[in-house]
Order: sequence, then C-alpha cells, then structure tokens
Amino acid sequence: MAGAALLGRLTWLAAEVVDAVQETPRVRTLVLDADGWAGHRAGQHVDVRLTAEDGYQAESSYSIASAPGEPLAITVEELEDGEVSPYLVGEVVDGDRFEIRGPIGGYFVWDGSDEAPVLLIAGGSGVVPLVSMIRHRARIGSRAPTRLLYSSRSYEDIIYRAELDEPADGLEVFHTLTRSQPSGWTGYARRIDAEMLDEVAWPMDDDPRVFICGSTRFVDTAADGLVAMGYPALSIRTERFGATG
Ligand SMILES: Cc1cc2nc3c(=O)[nH]c(=O)nc-3n(C[C@H](O)[C@H](O)[C@H](O)COP(=O)(O)OP(=O)(O)OC[C@H]3O[C@@H](n4cnc5c(N)ncnc54)[C@H](O)[C@@H]3O)c2cc1C
Repeated sequence: MAGAALLGRLTWLAAEVVDAVQETPRVRTLVLDADGWAGHRAGQHVDVRLTAEDGYQAESSYSIASAPGEPLAITVEELEDGEVSPYLVGEVVDGDRFEIRGPIGGYFVWDGSDEAPVLLIAGGSGVVPLVSMIRHRARIGSRAPTRLLYSSRSYEDIIYRAELDEPADGLEVFHTLTRSQPSGWTGYARRIDAEMLDEVAWPMDDDPRVFICGSTRFVDTAADGLVAMGYPALSIRTERFGATG
C-alpha cells in the first residue's frame, strides 16, 4: 500500500514535552521538542507512540496545532478509557519524553498560496488542524477571507476560546453550542444543519477551499449538507478523527 510505504519512510523521533497548556477541563496542548523534526504544513498530523516499562506500546494520531515555523504543538482531548489521551492530558509533565512520527498527510493541508475564500468547519477537537491553518494565515499575512464554523458541547468546551475571540482581519468565527449555552449567548445553539450552513458557507461561485474536521458522524453531516447546497463533493477536504472527537 502506498500509504504504508510512505509511513515506513518516516522515522520515530524522541520528543520532549517542553510546555503544557490546559485549554479546557478535558483538553491540553503539549509543546514538543523533537530532535530531527523537519517542519510541517498546516493541517498535517503526527503519530504518537507511548512505550510502557514492560515494553507495551500504544499509538494514536494527533493533528498539529501550531503554524508552520512555530514550535511543534499538539492539542489532545481526554477520552475516558483511552490508552493514549488520558496519559497526554492528565499525566505528562514537562521533561517527559515519548516518540512521534510525522508530519503525515498531504491532502488535508492549506498553504495559503492563493486568496480564495476558506471555509473551516470543526466539531470538538476537530478544530485543532483548522487552528493551525488560521495561525498560518495570520503569520503569512494572507488576506484570504476565512470563516470558521465551530461546534462545541458547551461554552467551557470551546478550545482556543480566547484566541478565537480576537480574530485577525478577514477571519469570522461562528460558534454553535449543542448541549448548553451561557445566559445571553448570541451564537447558534444546535447541531449543524442546512440552515446554518446556508448562512455561513461562501457561495459556490467564489470557489472556496473547504476543510471539515471532527468525528466521523460530524464530518459526514457537514459534508452532506454542503453537497446538498451544490458544493461538488471533490471540493470538500475532510479529516475524520473516528467515532469520538
Ligand atoms: C488524523 C487524525 C488526527 C487526530 N487529531 C486529534 C487531535 O488533534 N486531538 C485529539 O484529541 N484527537 C485527535 N484524533 C483522535 C486520536 O487519534 C485518538 O483517537 C483519541 O485521542 C483516542 O485515543 P486513545 O488512545 O486515548 O483512546 P482509545 O484507547 O483508542 O479509545 C478510547 C475510548 O474511546 C472509544 N473510541 C476511541 N476511538 C474510537 C473509534 N474510532 N470508534 C469507536 N470508539 C472509539 C473506545 O471505545 C474507548 O473506550 C485524531 C485522529 C486522527 C485519525
């Protein structure tokens, strides 16, 4: 398989945790220093491999949260009963080391090489690679008009909330909170649906770049909604985190 062959060429690198930021009660960002890291593109991910003292190994994939050129960072949501995420969110401390492999992915990437409008749709931790794109957009001074539609369960679950509250010029952020909303909430308060997509999505004639990321069900719903609006399926790039996310 081509994918397996490509992964085979990537070496596992020792990565050291140099900083950790609690983003929400269940989500933490880890800044990593990995010897031999060659840099990445916005939207790519890494594989993380943990090795226990008895040699048992567990692996999971994590999108890169930082922009190209910034220190490598991943943002992890803790899943109950998980093998990898509870360790990364709840146990790791500065100076701890584990292995990473990457960067991985050449399709779910945005380099900012043109100024076509960008539509980013995120569910939960699916916002991670899209924020890498937003950070990259700011760093390169791109003027591509960009909209982020971001679905979270509650206000407290919004990852990178302070950063998204102060968007750069030309970036619009639309939140929807699906389970609970603080009093006075003026954003959306339901799951993403056709009416919401119609209000937020760029007209197809503008030839937008579309990236959707989140759980498999979330991604499928959002992509199906855009296709129903007339977006060609092939114009929509998706990243599925699995049943969770
Ligand atoms: C390309 C890619 C990028 C990703 N980026 C991020 C990211 O930036 N941040 C982030 O937090 N996560 C991300 N994920 C998800 C991440 O890889 C793990 O799936 C997640 O952290 C759970 O791993 P774990 O080892 O803790 O849990 P596991 O041991 O794998 O499972 C934990 C629990 O969740 C359930 N579960 C987990 N995955 C599934 C599934 N697919 N189907 C059904 N049940 C499941 C299991 O039943 C189990 O009880 C990404 C996934 C992919 C494929």
